[in-house]
Amino acid sequence: MADERSPLEAEIRRLIAIAGPMPLADYMRLCLTHPRYGYYVTHDPIGAAGDFITAPEISQMFGELIGLWMAAVWQQMGAPENVRIVELGPGRATLMIDALRAAKTVRSFYTAIVLHMVEISPKLQAVQQLRLEGLGEPVLWHPALTDIPGGPAIIIANEFIDALPIHQAIKQADGWHERVVDVAPDGKLVIGAARDPLPHFDGTLPRELRQSPEGSIFEWRSDAIALELGRRTRSDGVALVIDYGHLRQGLGQTLQAVAGHSYTDPLRSPGDADLTAHVDFGTLANSAEIIGGRIHGPLSQRDFLYRLGIEKRAAMLKSQALPDKTAEIDSALARLTETGPKGMGELFKVLAIADPKFGVLPGFEK
Ligand code: SAH
Repeated sequence: MADERSPLEAEIRRLIAIAGPMPLADYMRLCLTHPRYGYYVTHDPIGAAGDFITAPEISQMFGELIGLWMAAVWQQMGAPENVRIVELGPGRATLMIDALRAAKTVRSFYTAIVLHMVEISPKLQAVQQLRLEGLGEPVLWHPALTDIPGGPAIIIANEFIDALPIHQAIKQADGWHERVVDVAPDGKLVIGAARDPLPHFDGTLPRELRQSPEGSIFEWRSDAIALELGRRTRSDGVALVIDYGHLRQGLGQTLQAVAGHSYTDPLRSPGDADLTAHVDFGTLANSAEIIGGRIHGPLSQRDFLYRLGIEKRAAMLKSQALPDKTAEIDSALARLTETGPKGMGELFKVLAIADPKFGVLPGFEK
């Protein structure tokens, strides 16, 4: 048995043996970003050969529209001579490459750009470096958003926040208990509940969730990223967050593991699967607003892309494409804007946080 375990599983078992059951958030953080065995440290996860596919990998239209959006936003910011373009979790840098190609048509914007990438994965950083080199533009890499100096900035985060750790609590007779990863008597990793209830937890919940029945699960994420986005944008900044998630906090758990384009058990082979959970856009917006950012949206990805002109862009690409490529453009458009609870166009939401003085941002008009 033991030799079938991933090296990270051995490490997690060791930590549980020393310190006791591990909060789910710590487990998720270790699985994704453990400096030696974390999923993002050891894998290049995105694309057909990887574990999952993202919007910029589906079609060049996605990044191109964001590039033109950034140019319009920059004009609305008063066309500052220097603007930092920051991407959180750039993956294979596809979004940025497509965005910059489109943005090049607005020459004055293009020359104002300095690129900053926030990336934790040395593997993906190497991919980004290789692919961005060709542009001949200076690019800087940072481990966290807090490392990037102030000044005018446009921040883009596509499928970044879903990879940040979540906590869960389960309601029991004596209150809410944090959910933890433990080792069961049969030796398997299991999700259990901490022995003691979380003190005064009911008081931190939305009113309508306080009387939840036993067995209910409540999930939340640290508001550190929301506060940092609010702080970073409230003077001269704009952030665009695109991710899958919900508009209002509710009950239920959304942690999921994906490997090789299929769902798997989050406790199986830690470090070998991508773990993500829904983004709670309501709470993200509140926290960013409290610290001084102005909130735009959230909109569905479908509405946002239509407002940015994805239909026209698709028609133009089709008019220039070889006949056997036009069906591909149609199917990419359909996939990015698909409705229904599981369709990317509806499940994915778009939210912007900005300095209040910039007014309503393009795409977010009422
Ligand atoms: N935005 C890309 C990739 C999404 S995958 C796309 O749309 O294709 C998530 C990305 O976030 C990866 O690049 C991953 O390495 C990075 N990442 C995950 N957790 C991170 C963290 N805590 N800090 C910095 N980067 C992180």
